[in-house]
Amino acid sequence: MSQGTSSNGSFDFDVIVIGAGYGGFDAAKHAAEHGLKVAIVESRDMGGTCVNRGCVPSKALLAASGRVRELADAEHLAGFGIHAAPVRFERQKIADHANQLVATIRTNLTKALERAGATILLGKGRLDGAQRVAVREASGVERVYAARDVIIATGSDPFVPPGIETDGRTVFTSDEAVSLEWLPRWIAIIGSGYIGLEFADVYTALGCEVTMVEALDKVMPTFDPDIAKIAARHLIEGRDIDARSGVLARKITPGCPVKIELADMKTKELVETLEVDAVLVATGRVPVSKDLNLASVGVETNRGFIPVDDQMRVLAGGEPVANLWAVGDVTGKMMLAHTAAAQGAVAIDNILGHPRSIDYRSIPAATFTHPEISSVGLSEADAKALAAQDGFELGSVRSYFKANSKALAELEGEGLMKLLFNKATGEVLGAHIYGLHAADLIQEIANAVARRQSVKQLVNEVHTHPTLSEVVEVAYKQAVQQVAA
Ligand SMILES: Cc1cc2nc3c(=O)[nH]c(=O)nc-3n(C[C@H](O)[C@H](O)[C@H](O)COP(=O)(O)OP(=O)(O)OC[C@H]3O[C@@H](n4cnc5c(N)ncnc54)[C@H](O)[C@@H]3O)c2cc1C
Repeated sequence: MSQGTSSNGSFDFDVIVIGAGYGGFDAAKHAAEHGLKVAIVESRDMGGTCVNRGCVPSKALLAASGRVRELADAEHLAGFGIHAAPVRFERQKIADHANQLVATIRTNLTKALERAGATILLGKGRLDGAQRVAVREASGVERVYAARDVIIATGSDPFVPPGIETDGRTVFTSDEAVSLEWLPRWIAIIGSGYIGLEFADVYTALGCEVTMVEALDKVMPTFDPDIAKIAARHLIEGRDIDARSGVLARKITPGCPVKIELADMKTKELVETLEVDAVLVATGRVPVSKDLNLASVGVETNRGFIPVDDQMRVLAGGEPVANLWAVGDVTGKMMLAHTAAAQGAVAIDNILGHPRSIDYRSIPAATFTHPEISSVGLSEADAKALAAQDGFELGSVRSYFKANSKALAELEGEGLMKLLFNKATGEVLGAHIYGLHAADLIQEIANAVARRQSVKQLVNEVHTHPTLSEVVEVAYKQAVQQVAA
């Protein structure tokens, strides 16, 4: 049965979005602001992972624990001639700060959607054939709505590898870690991606001992190797984190203590059994797509990820499915909140008849450790492959924070920026940064990549002195010397 009144004669809504995370939110708001009749379906919490269990609470914890780290770093403070009393903190108040921020942002986001005129439907959505969405409310009542266009924005959940049992208390994922319910004396973090690193930053600042377990050969395998080397020296070795790489946590049993069986990644032989107070499993994320009834529209997923083109149209057998779109983590492309939001806006622009494609190369990524790590554009390996394919020489320059007045004034001279560019044209292809406020610094380069600008144009842009942005200016100046006249 189809419910409600038709917006244009035959549909209940112009657009129905399934999932109110960052991707769904941006799509729905953008659609409503452009006069479309839109509904957004959410089965859990408005705001999705980022607001409730991701970016927002983790950044609140990082802000508080970062201050604890700063005030407890007697050596760093002594460099300024400051001697502070021993720092005290209240774990519960830090947790409250994160929880309150989540509640505020969730409320703001919900109000923004309502103000824009979007209809919020609470319940679990699934496709019911082409241009139809069935929504099952908590009461069990199911209603079917017709929509001219449907956008899937169902996001992702933490991935827990086989052999690891979670109990949410002693063995948990980031979903629980963001609540900071207790501080284990000794915690093992499985995975050295950005989530593992951020929580290692929080836990070490708050006095926990951390062991980091990485299955691949080196810690931080997803980062630029040069950046990973300098970052690991400070963020892992410099903090007495016991990091193990090339080992697999093949079995984890919750309890007191938690038992972890570590096996050699290559031979799969048991190498050690650890007994720790807690384990955070940070081994990646999996798409939420299995209950969507994608078969009713002939769509097959790729390990759960929904295939899309750069206009965010869902693909079946490589061809776009009419009026069906997918955005955010469920598409598996650069699983970040701002990617999801950007994809949501692209989908709506295409629905509105303003053709537009997403440009993944210009989307930056950041890890909010102290100091931060960031990147945009191509990795060095991909840039080399592109250079070989297109027949140009790849340029690479390094700019150091220790040569930057502002970084030195802050006693934060440890940092590196690597800039990759085309030596023939000067086009900026990518950048990788480790250092103070790297997450803010990367935006300038992301904008240059978005415009496919050359260092020849960028080199004359004046940067404020003394600021960290001069690290970027120095890189542009070095690069331009290598570019053909
Ligand atoms: C600890 C952590 C820290 C992070 N930090 C950052 C960061 O600093 N910066 C950053 O850019 N990204 C960060 N991320 C990643 C970011 O949270 C995700 O990329 C982002 O949330 C993806 O948004 P989304 O809209 O695709 O999906 P989600 O946010 O996962 O939202 C999907 C929504 O859909 C709902 N849903 C699912 N199925 C259905 C259904 N059938 N019916 C109705 N509703 C449904 C879910 O309940 C959920 O609310 C972090 C993630 C984690 C876990």
